[in-house]
Amino acid sequence: MERLYYECGNGWEPLILEVKELVDKYNSNLPNNKEPLEFVQIKEKWGGLRIYLNYYPDNFTDILDSIEQRSWSICEYCGTDKNVTKERTHGWVMSLCPSCRKKELERHSQLFSKEELLDYPYLGIGEKPDRSSKYASEDKLEKMIL
Ligand SMILES: [Zn+2]
Repeated sequence: MERLYYECGNGWEPLILEVKELVDKYNSNLPNNKEPLEFVQIKEKWGGLRIYLNYYPDNFTDILDSIEQRSWSICEYCGTDKNVTKERTHGWVMSLCPSCRKKELERHSQLFSKEELLDYPYLGIGEKPDRSSKYASEDKLEKMIL
């Protein structure tokens, strides 16, 4: 069975599974001479769920656009759709509910020293830290769906 990895909070897992179902459906009816559709990358970017495929048949571009738009009002961490806002939490725009945003800020303030926080691009100073450091305190936020 294919393993599917994603680099975002698991509040968005239902959206990912929704797309997986469509990809599976497309592959089960694959036109002649077409390669199977595959996930290339699944990640959070600018507070939205971005899903990249090896190619985009039929209406997949529209589907993925609408999935991204829906992710803006679903908390990336806990999956609630109540009071979710898409805004800067620290250096990054994230779509979170108020309680996850509070936790994220607390977690983040422990994660980085003041000096590192000064490097954030929205302050106009220095380089943005490596994006992977966003999730550095989680054991491994990269998740796997079987
Ligand atoms: Zn939440």
